[in-house]
Amino acid sequence: ETRAKVIDGKSVAKQIRYEITGEISRMKDAISIVPGLAVILVGDRKDSATYVRNKKKACEAVGITSYEECLPENSTEQEVLKLISGFNDDPSVHGILIQLPLPCHMNEENILNAVSIEKDVDGFHPLNIGRLAMRGREPLFVPCTPKGCIELLHRYRIDIKGKRAVVIGRSNIVGMPAALLLQREDATVTILHSRTKNPEEITRQADIIISAAGQPNMVRGSWIKPGAVIIDVGINPVEDAKSPRGYRLVGDICYEEACKIASAVTPVPGGVGPMTIAMLLSNTLSSAKRTHNFK
Ligand code: NDP
Repeated sequence: ETRAKVIDGKSVAKQIRYEITGEISRMKDAISIVPGLAVILVGDRKDSATYVRNKKKACEAVGITSYEECLPENSTEQEVLKLISGFNDDPSVHGILIQLPLPCHMNEENILNAVSIEKDVDGFHPLNIGRLAMRGREPLFVPCTPKGCIELLHRYRIDIKGKRAVVIGRSNIVGMPAALLLQREDATVTILHSRTKNPEEITRQADIIISAAGQPNMVRGSWIKPGAVIIDVGINPVEDAKSPRGYRLVGDICYEEACKIASAVTPVPGGVGPMTIAMLLSNTLSSAKRTHNFK
């Protein structure tokens, strides 16, 4: 019995962080510029606070200066907009990230629109997404999680051109941009969502599956074409009495079943997760390079 190759996002992300560290020190030596990333967190969601902490640590490790602003849950949209405008004008800041989700009394669209497209390292500004969708246009930034998925395919030398790809999920931050990126790489792309009929039949035709549905173990072995490549974005907590926290994290794909039929699979955790932060660092570095015309 052959087993799928494990696509090791943790080690690829480590390699990328190493490359970024080198580039940052080369830039610092040459032009005395250090990239800066501003992170805005509103409210006291525990998961968001953890993500922000991890991003800050990752910045420090590669030599990016991080600027963090935390506002209380009951802040106004105006207060957030004012912070963004300050960072837009601050030359030491090359990237601005608004940790989502925002409290529900705020208008996410207004807030994301306020980020300067030159500093939109999350790639969520409608102008960047619009350019991603258009032929012959180049976005300044591509959203980090889908970019990380494609980077994994590239680094494992998996051909995308001409392949059939299925993306499960159509969210603004993962599914939709993942499908656009695959299409830019000349795959033939089908997008599945919660209203799709016969998802199993469609998924079974795919050479490449990117799943971002947020449904634990949804994709069974029978959904997978023999030899397919699977990128599992899902991070889903499931009860586990044996774990000290009472839960563990699983993807959207039945990992054990997938390993028996696919040619390559990302694990959860240790697949796409670490790549997301690596791509954020990479976007921040390219922003600083672009601003200072440093090649
Ligand atoms: P959303 O909840 O915003 O989107 C989920 C998408 O999946 C929706 O388009 C939804 O369809 C679709 N969907 C839900 N159930 C099904 C189903 N049964 N069959 C087909 N499609 C379905 O989630 P996100 O895109 O933000 O995140 C998706 C997953 O990825 C989550 O588990 C999240 O934790 C994880 N994630 C991981 C990251 C990482 O760094 N690895 C980063 C970001 C997210 P519809 O549009 O019809 O509602």
